[in-house]
Amino acid sequence: MTSEDKAMVLDARKDPMGWAIADYYKNGVAGRLRVFSSMFDEDEMSVESLFRTIEQMPEIERVALERASGHILDVGAGSGCHSLALQDMGKEVCAIDISPRSVEVMRESGVRDARLINMYDCALTEKFDTILMLMNGTGIVGTLDNMPAFFERIGQLLADGGQVLVDSSDLIYLYENEDGSVDIDLNGRYYGEVDFQMQYKNMKGEGFDWLYVDFDTLAHYAEESGFAAELVAQGAHYDYLARLARR
Ligand code: SAH
Repeated sequence: MTSEDKAMVLDARKDPMGWAIADYYKNGVAGRLRVFSSMFDEDEMSVESLFRTIEQMPEIERVALERASGHILDVGAGSGCHSLALQDMGKEVCAIDISPRSVEVMRESGVRDARLINMYDCALTEKFDTILMLMNGTGIVGTLDNMPAFFERIGQLLADGGQVLVDSSDLIYLYENEDGSVDIDLNGRYYGEVDFQMQYKNMKGEGFDWLYVDFDTLAHYAEESGFAAELVAQGAHYDYLARLARR
């Protein structure tokens, strides 16, 4: 994601998801949050699902909330659904996001510590016992090339004995044929590297890279950076929750 390289936050005029979240929060309905990619047909994201309650969350997210302990950092917190659930569980959480509108909504809806800041911004100097990255949390890494920088950053943000709980999906199923063979260009980009651009009403965001990574590849990069990856839980459709901790 380009904004992340520069540790920037979004311009409020280019924050489609944030505006969709704010509309839904205020009115209980939102327009279509459109998703474009050079790799897929136009798609739509359910704004309502960004406000999921703990009962509506997929199992791997509930496991992550259960396992989150100590001072928690909810990275890319969106509407704040996980942070609110953690607060209800009596846990201490700091929610961060680069979307100005989303952070406003989080503050209004009762997230006690919601900050407009990029996870790569070195102004964030505190240490956390748990870093939570949910709804394809590896997306924020952008591309596999950014893995070393990602691990360096979480190394700075984690307290001793701390953990990252992150979910992702193996997109291999998109390339599988009925006979079980796969169509992947091994000389091309990694198949989980996706580009997206979002639009809400007339507001278009900047395009960004979003990484889906299979567990083995994540574990490989973790190891190269002195971390260990543990497969904590698997979802219903190639999705999983991983725990990353220093070795
Ligand atoms: N975790 C939420 C929202 C996921 S959408 C949920 O599960 O519902 C991903 C969020 O990450 C978006 O709100 C986006 O603004 C935010 N984001 C993207 N890059 C970021 C970065 N580098 N630092 C902090 N937040 C980021």
